[in-house]
Amino acid sequence: MSTDGPDPSGAAPGDEAPPGTPGTGEDVCPRCGGSGKIDGGDCPECGGTGIVIAGIGGG
Ligand SMILES: [Zn+2]
Repeated sequence: MSTDGPDPSGAAPGDEAPPGTPGTGEDVCPRCGGSGKIDGGDCPECGGTGIVIAGIGGG
């Protein structure tokens, strides 16, 4: 949990899993509401995409 460098997989900090992981899907970033921006800067949760990868179909 101490990796602050760029992720070669392209996953954003808010992603629960790398893109393409079975059982996961894209969801609107709850932090920026899908705008990808917060206070004029890129949202740290989704990396500015407005989309995060979240687990689906759980339970
Ligand atoms: Zn966001």
